[in-house]
Amino acid sequence: MLKTVNKHLIKTYFHKNITIEHKQLQIPTNEILTYLQPDKFNSLCKEGCSNFNKKWTCPPNCPPFTEYAKNFSQINLHLFYTRTDQFNFIEAKNRGLKAYNFIKEELQSYLHDIESENNIMIAANSCEICSPCALASGKNCPMPEKIRYNLVAFGFNVNAIMNDLFQYELKWLDKDKAPDYISSLAAILQK
Ligand code: SF4
Repeated sequence: MLKTVNKHLIKTYFHKNITIEHKQLQIPTNEILTYLQPDKFNSLCKEGCSNFNKKWTCPPNCPPFTEYAKNFSQINLHLFYTRTDQFNFIEAKNRGLKAYNFIKEELQSYLHDIESENNIMIAANSCEICSPCALASGKNCPMPEKIRYNLVAFGFNVNAIMNDLFQYELKWLDKDKAPDYISSLAAILQK
């Protein structure tokens, strides 16, 4: 079993302290290719996501991962997860989504801070700099240097990565009830 680095962070959300568990694992980039299935997962995006072909960072507009990552020898995976009962001050029907958005933003902020000229973030979700994305009106991205793709858009099986590499079971958001834990996965590609 690969060894993860485990830490936790305390962050503040609406003046409440929230503990976020942080697992980290670095592997050679070619070892993550086991989990790359763009045909399958891009099809799921096409069938079920309103962002399909509406954002420059979403399928079918993101480059093949193997091309994008060819100059990066290592991938450093970062999993953030947190207990949703820490968000009990939010009404139950909105709790899961609010908790998810909170840790997703915290993860992206954490990874943005450690980006450098030798590495680049693979984000936790699609680009949200403009709303809507310029692609929705057929325009080029005005800030291509800020584009960060994400694992799902590349076609990775995020569920399997969490299960196999982090021994973490992904819990899906339910419409009316938050799962016990909520999580977000992103990465840093390193030269
Ligand atoms: S920066 Fe704006 S136009 Fe470019 S990918 Fe992101 S949301 Fe779309």
